[in-house]
Amino acid sequence: MKLALIGFGQAGGKVVDEFVAYEDEIGGGFVEAAVAVNSATADLKGLENVRTENRVLIGQARVKGHGVGADNELGATVTEEDIDEIQGAIDRIPVHEIDAFLVVAGMGGGTGSGGAPVLAKHLKRIYNEPVYGLGILPATDEGGIYTLNAARSFQTFVREVDNLLVFDNDVWRSAGESVEDGYSRINREIVERFGLLFAAGEIDEDDDVAESVVDSSEIINTLEGGVSTIGYARETVDTGGLLSSFRDDDGFDEGQATNRMTSLVRKAALGRLTLPCDVSSADRGLVVATGPAEHLNRKGVERGRQWLEDETGSMEIRGGDYPLSDRDEVGAIVLLSGVTDVPRVDQLQQVAIEAQETTESVRANAQDEFASLIDTGGELDALF
Ligand code: GDP
Repeated sequence: MKLALIGFGQAGGKVVDEFVAYEDEIGGGFVEAAVAVNSATADLKGLENVRTENRVLIGQARVKGHGVGADNELGATVTEEDIDEIQGAIDRIPVHEIDAFLVVAGMGGGTGSGGAPVLAKHLKRIYNEPVYGLGILPATDEGGIYTLNAARSFQTFVREVDNLLVFDNDVWRSAGESVEDGYSRINREIVERFGLLFAAGEIDEDDDVAESVVDSSEIINTLEGGVSTIGYARETVDTGGLLSSFRDDDGFDEGQATNRMTSLVRKAALGRLTLPCDVSSADRGLVVATGPAEHLNRKGVERGRQWLEDETGSMEIRGGDYPLSDRDEVGAIVLLSGVTDVPRVDQLQQVAIEAQETTESVRANAQDEFASLIDTGGELDALF
């Protein structure tokens, strides 16, 4: 499906930048337009693939291009004040050609955390196209303020979008990695999963002949409300050579392809999700099989789909193919939507409530202490 991508803040901008590179790499055709919005000039300059005219600086009057720090209320305020600047960039997007907007942001910071929900609300008011959010949760060791920001942004963002797709940095960190290396690896994981999903709905009818390609309306229907998470599993396949063990006289070993796809679907759903959750709490689901067309077999997807139906107890599990030639991998993407049993969100909210209470009491204490610092019991007169 065709998307207008809008990256908000540093993380949002970097992930959108990476989406553009990934689309180019797989020839995915799912990015109709890519816009980056930030209150920090340096972050916008650091992007590589978002066109210069699509980089929008906001909040200049207040923060002079230096960013809002981790103040997401200020992030929301400058976005409201400069919404026309953002709209100016969106006006250049051929909105009649897109299937949806995707607003991407790290939820623990300031600009994206505060601004993304404001923009989502604005887009929903103006356009009929669905507005999706891709929210990135901070790692737990980033500290109380990031957790508090993320929890407040989550509450707001999920209310303003048609669906909030979530990626949790905490689950995807690796020990011994620098923050920068970590983010570039993680960003790649993000665009692979979400990129393959959206590219799947963008296949030309006359591309590889697929038995049953995923249609953008199936993705839209699956994303009808709530919070979503994605699982992905892949396996290298023998793509050729007369000696290939998967070939028999008629071509490929169907039984083996079926079993492989069914087990990939299980691995995707029960392995590491972008947002860990209890799979059985999903309201809707979509299974997408990717890889060389000859390796995608209908029976495998159908079995995987049925397994997910049993696992979730949902009657709304869709399935289809996304043929990708020139690959030696077969993969399964499992989109779980409308998930409700998400311990990470409960934990985030709990820690955020504690952080909010601590912040309030520290602030009140500091005020009292300051008052006592300057109080002389009326014995000293101020100048005026
Ligand atoms: P903003 O510019 O004020 O919106 O804030 P940032 O985007 O810099 O940071 C917000 C949060 O996003 C951080 O707390 C991190 O959890 C996360 N983050 C920052 N940069 C990246 C990145 O490149 N990739 C990912 N996955 N997360 C990031």
